Amino acid sequence: MDRASAAIVLGCTPRQVGPCARCRGLTVRYGQQAQPICPACKAEEKRIER
Ligand SMILES: [Zn+2]
Repeated sequence: MDRASAAIVLGCTPRQVGPCARCRGLTVRYGQQAQPICPACKAEEKRIER
């Protein structure tokens, strides 16, 4: 997926899109809603914690 498509899916601008620190997939890495990891990895990490 390219940054423009990822931005539409993620609900942000292409400039805010960057690689997930965990899976290297695209996620919101910059701006106010920035996250170091993508939603899928976030859910995965939560599952591992429990
Ligand atoms: Zn990820």
